[in-house]
Amino acid sequence: RVPVSALLQRPADAVGRPQQAAHPRIPLPADLFAPERRNSRGVEFGERAALDRLLADVRAEAADLEPITDATPDQANAAVTAARAGFASWSRTPAGARAAALEQAAHLLESRGARFIALLQREGGKTLDDALSELREAADFCRYYAAQGRKLFGNDAAMPGPTGESNALGLRGRGVFVAISPWNFPLAIFLGQVTAALMAGNSVVAKPAEQTPRIAREAVALLHEAGIPGSALHLVTGDGRIGAVLTAHADIAGVVFTGSTEVARQINRTLAAKDGPIVPLIAETGGINAMIADATALPEQVADDVVTSAFRSAGQRCSALRLLFAQEDVADRMIEMIAGAARELKIGDPSDVATHVGPVIDLEAKQRLDAHIARMKREARLHFAGHAPEGCFVAPHIFELKQAGELTEEVFGPILHVVRYRAENLARVLQAIERTGYGLTLGVHSRIDDTIEAIIDRVQVGNIYVNRNMIGAVVGVQPFGGNGLSGTGPKAGGPHYLARFATEQTVTINT
Ligand code: GLU
Repeated sequence: RVPVSALLQRPADAVGRPQQAAHPRIPLPADLFAPERRNSRGVEFGERAALDRLLADVRAEAADLEPITDATPDQANAAVTAARAGFASWSRTPAGARAAALEQAAHLLESRGARFIALLQREGGKTLDDALSELREAADFCRYYAAQGRKLFGNDAAMPGPTGESNALGLRGRGVFVAISPWNFPLAIFLGQVTAALMAGNSVVAKPAEQTPRIAREAVALLHEAGIPGSALHLVTGDGRIGAVLTAHADIAGVVFTGSTEVARQINRTLAAKDGPIVPLIAETGGINAMIADATALPEQVADDVVTSAFRSAGQRCSALRLLFAQEDVADRMIEMIAGAARELKIGDPSDVATHVGPVIDLEAKQRLDAHIARMKREARLHFAGHAPEGCFVAPHIFELKQAGELTEEVFGPILHVVRYRAENLARVLQAIERTGYGLTLGVHSRIDDTIEAIIDRVQVGNIYVNRNMIGAVVGVQPFGGNGLSGTGPKAGGPHYLARFATEQTVTINT
C-alpha cells in the first residue's frame, strides 16, 4: 500500500528523514478562527496577507516524515494494562481539572495550526480548506467537551427523597476506553473520540487508522503536554489486527469506533464473545446518503450544494452525498448545471491553495473507486467525468442510474449517482432511502414546506440538511451521527455524547 504522501510531489530527501529538532511554533492569524468566519460553506480566509503568512508557515513545516512502526500485540495488551492503572487517578481527577487540560489542548492546537495543517496535507492529503476546517473542528471538540463536561461531571445531581435520606446521581468514568478512529478525519475525529472519553473520566487507548499515525502521535503528545497524564492516554499504532487485539482485551470498559459498518459489526461480535465486563460500543459508520431535489428548488443552489456535498474532500466523508434524487421535470437542467459546476473543480496537489479536490487516501482506495467507475460506465449512463492527474487521484464522476437499488454499497469517493423521480412517487423515493438500511445524512432541496416536513417526518436519518449542503457538521451546532447501518446513534459534538462514555452511580445516605 502506497501512502498518499509518497505520491505527492516533494523533495526526494524528505522521505524517511529523521525528525528535525524543535519545530518553530508559529501562531495562526487569530482572525482565521473568528466565529464570524464559521459558516456552512467552509472557511473564508480573511485578508490575503493572513493567508500568505499561513501558507509560508505551513511550507516551513512540510519537510518532516518519519516512519512509524506498528505496535506488536504485546505492546497493545500492555497499553491496556497501563491504562487500567492510569484510570484509578484520572477518574478521581476533578472534572474541572480534566476540562482545563482539554481547553489547554485547544489552545495548543491553534497556536501550532501550521504544523497540523502541514501534517494533514502531507499524511491525509487534505486541501488547505479541508485542513483548516478540520483543525478548527478538533479545537472545537476540545472546548465543547470541556464545557459540557464541567456541567455534567462537575457535581452529582441531588434526587428527591424522603426526609432523613439524601440521594444523588452522578456520572463516572467506566474504565479503559478503546478509541479506534478513521483516516478521513485523522485529527478531528481522533481527538473528538479521545477527548470525549477522557472528559468522561475514562483512561484511553487510542488506535488511529494505519494510514495516519503521525498526526495521531503528535495529537497525543499535545494532549500530554496540555496536562493529560501519560498513564491516562496511550497511543497504539497498527492496522485492524491491532484493533482486534485491543477490543478482545478482557480489561476494557468501552469502545468508540468510526469506520466501516463491517468493522463495527466485527467489533460488536468480539465484544460479545470476550471475557470480562459487558462493554458498550459507540459506533459511527458510513452511509448511502441521499439528497432529494424537487422542481421548486433553486437550480444554482442545488448545483453548488451537490458539488460541495459529493466532491469536496474527494467524497471521503461519511456524510457525503452519494445518491441524488432529481425530480424528472428539472433533472436534465439540474444535471447539466451540476456537471458545469463540477467542471470548474481543480483536482491535484492539496498543498496548492487553488486545489478543490485532493488525492484519495491510498492506491487501494483508488483502485476500488476506479473499479466502481468502470462498472458504472458499463451499467449506468455517464453524465460527467472530470480529469485527474497521474497518481492517487480520482476525478469527480456523475452517473445516472435507473433505480436507486443499483447502488448497494457505500462508495467512498467523488462519485455521484443520480436517479430521476416523478413528483407523485416521492413516497417511493423515501422507501428507497429506507431500504438502503443506512441512516446518516439526508439533503432536501425544495421550497414547499409540506414536502420538507413530510420528508423529515418519514425518514430516519441522523442529520437532515434542508436547502444547503450536507457535509461539515459543526461541533455544538449540528451534533453528528447516524442510525441503522450508519451507527449506534450517539451524536458527536452534541450535548448527550459524553454521557454515553460514562456509567451512572446513585448514592443513598440515611442521614
Ligand atoms: N462530521 C463530518 C461531516 O459532517 C463527517 C465525519 C465523517 O466522515 O466521519 O462532514
